[in-house]
Amino acid sequence: MEFKELPPVKEQIMKCVRCGKCRSVCPVFAEIRNETAAPRGHVFMVQMLRDGIVEPDEAVAERLTSCLLCENCSVNCPSGIDIHELNAAARSYIYEKNPSLAKELVFDSLWTRPGLLRTSTKFLWGAQKTGLQSLARAIGLTKILPGDLPRAERMLTDVPVRSGRSMISEVNRARGERKYRVGYFLGCATDMFYPSVARATVDILTWHGCEVIVPKDIKCCGQPHIANGKMETARSLAAHNVKIFNAYDLDYIVTDCASCSAALSHKNMEFLLGGLNIEDQAKTFSEKVLDLTLFLTEVLDIEVPNPEMARKVKVTWHDPCHLANAQGVKQAPRELLKRIPGVEFIEMANANSCCGGSGTYCLTHHDLSMKILDKKMDRAMETGANKLVTCCPSCMMQLKFGARRHHWNAEVVHIVDLLSPFYKVLPKKAASQ
Ligand code: SF4
Ligand code: SF4
Repeated sequence: MEFKELPPVKEQIMKCVRCGKCRSVCPVFAEIRNETAAPRGHVFMVQMLRDGIVEPDEAVAERLTSCLLCENCSVNCPSGIDIHELNAAARSYIYEKNPSLAKELVFDSLWTRPGLLRTSTKFLWGAQKTGLQSLARAIGLTKILPGDLPRAERMLTDVPVRSGRSMISEVNRARGERKYRVGYFLGCATDMFYPSVARATVDILTWHGCEVIVPKDIKCCGQPHIANGKMETARSLAAHNVKIFNAYDLDYIVTDCASCSAALSHKNMEFLLGGLNIEDQAKTFSEKVLDLTLFLTEVLDIEVPNPEMARKVKVTWHDPCHLANAQGVKQAPRELLKRIPGVEFIEMANANSCCGGSGTYCLTHHDLSMKILDKKMDRAMETGANKLVTCCPSCMMQLKFGARRHHWNAEVVHIVDLLSPFYKVLPKKAASQ
């Protein structure tokens, strides 16, 4: 299919009324102050690409990839243009014309193979412990990867020895009477960098009467591939995951990663798989998908047990773009925080402004990412909170780095980290048969 025939391009590009609303909310434009970095500029660029006025070359790619894909422009556009989808479609088109071996190695050979990805993470952990990482840096190994990785590499700290997968069974019985059979989408970043979040998510769900299925062959949700122009790979990953989960008889599919829930959402499934043979299966799948915060508050309507375990703590919340913008979920995490005994919730200004992490953006556009992060940290620190809470591993990594960068002694945690102590001390209810 020709680029100009791609549905998001064909249907959406002509709707721009050039009002500039998108520009006023774009965190990248706020830093660069150049029309080519504005969302509207990206729409024009895609239009010129479609009409053959500009070539799909590295220069155009560089302009389009300065975008975080935070979707703030799309949710504020009065014409309802999915600007980020236009951008993603254009990245894919440009990549197909300019394939890169480094990207193929990272996104096709490694990031499509969960076992290999876990092994590499373990190597990274070992390297940190033995000094091999310094050696790799010294011989320039880190320079074969794209962007500002050599400098951004310092963000990669605290890689745990064990993966989430190694701590969780495929089938986890409900405690007490079974209410629901739930599929848990264990995302790559949670699996590799925050295994305790994965373990705690399963414990919380089983405690509240869910049988939790964690299919063995889950692959990446495809979000990093979309951002890096690897649309075909993202499609095949999405199709794979749809088939894997549809093989179980599930009531819901939940995930504790905002980027994963956005990737698995109905809207994104339509973007990736609409019009293909698997479209109906993808719809069956995505209709069951819910972010964990929504599932705990709106479906399970949980009451956090054992309130005498409460410790007073001041928390503030960072809205991941993939949760607040991509899915419109803002109330559920706040509601969940208010249900946690001992929590004093303080809203930060512009809580839904991007942290600048955006998956691999903090590696590929490190300086810009840091400027956006610094603004976020200023707003977080103004609250005087002891904990900065969110529900996206990519945001967590970025915010943890931000806290270190600003010498702020608040802890950056996943919302599940706040919940899990209330479940650890309880006597086990009998598992259902
Ligand atoms: S907000 Fe929408 S309609 Fe307005 S300039 Fe931006 S893309 Fe065009
Ligand atoms: S997705 Fe975010 S960074 Fe990209 S153009 Fe829109 S507002 Fe700007």
